[in-house]
Amino acid sequence: MSALTKLFAFAALALSTALASAADQPLAVVAAENFYGDLVQQVGGPHVQVTSIMNNPDQDPHLFEASVSTARALSAARLVIYNGMDYDPWMTKLLTAARAQGRAEIVVGRLLGKRSGDNPHLWYDPATMPTVARAIAARLQAVDPAHSADYRRNLDQVLASLAVIGQHVQSLRVRYAGTAVTATEPVFGLMAQALGLTMRNERFQLAVMNNTEPSASDIAAFERDLKSRQVRVLFYNNQASDPSAKRMRTLAQQSGVKVVGISETMPAGRHYQDWMRSQLDQLEKALNH
Ligand SMILES: [Zn+2]
Repeated sequence: MSALTKLFAFAALALSTALASAADQPLAVVAAENFYGDLVQQVGGPHVQVTSIMNNPDQDPHLFEASVSTARALSAARLVIYNGMDYDPWMTKLLTAARAQGRAEIVVGRLLGKRSGDNPHLWYDPATMPTVARAIAARLQAVDPAHSADYRRNLDQVLASLAVIGQHVQSLRVRYAGTAVTATEPVFGLMAQALGLTMRNERFQLAVMNNTEPSASDIAAFERDLKSRQVRVLFYNNQASDPSAKRMRTLAQQSGVKVVGISETMPAGRHYQDWMRSQLDQLEKALNH
């Protein structure tokens, strides 16, 4: 073999090795919220590497600001998923600034045909995640057809585990539909609706979510509901520290109304399914009381 032939052979080998390792590299995925990131990880398995931006349940997501590292992660991403509906407006800004060829996007609000002004906490609707999981599998199959069968198999498992949540919701609905409840914020609102619960004091909840002061009459109506035990449960957003919401929690405890703490962002080290199950169990205990 001449020196030149050897050189070509070596170059060809190096090139094919580089291509093979590029193909084995997991796909970079960025999720604005960690519960969507978890779902991508469940569907993608070892073929994806997920970075979730909002992953701290001690932080108010409505007040979140993105950092430089967020922009850097986005520029390398092959798939991006975020809630939309003004829940994560920083994401839209970053994506417009860092345009990339061939980057797949899933905007959950758009996927579900929602409009801005609808309740943005879409992951609390038990109908949402199966639709999102199917969309994730379809995008991953398009970007990475070599592992199509793996994505299909993982999707089936994810859908089966999400169906268990749907059954749990139905069984609670049979027992508790029509029960009056209230909340400091509309975080659990779509789940409460799926459970058939009657949600009271919604104007108060919107004001707190938007970090504005609820009106005097809305506060008075809320206090009346708690003192006269018109409601069985108060859903309290653990993740926001609004003073009027805290006051309502204290009043609920004094009045003997059960408080169920919920969070917007998934606690670290959990899967979406476990997180939902533990919150539904907590609710069931409170309603049984
Ligand atoms: Zn919220």
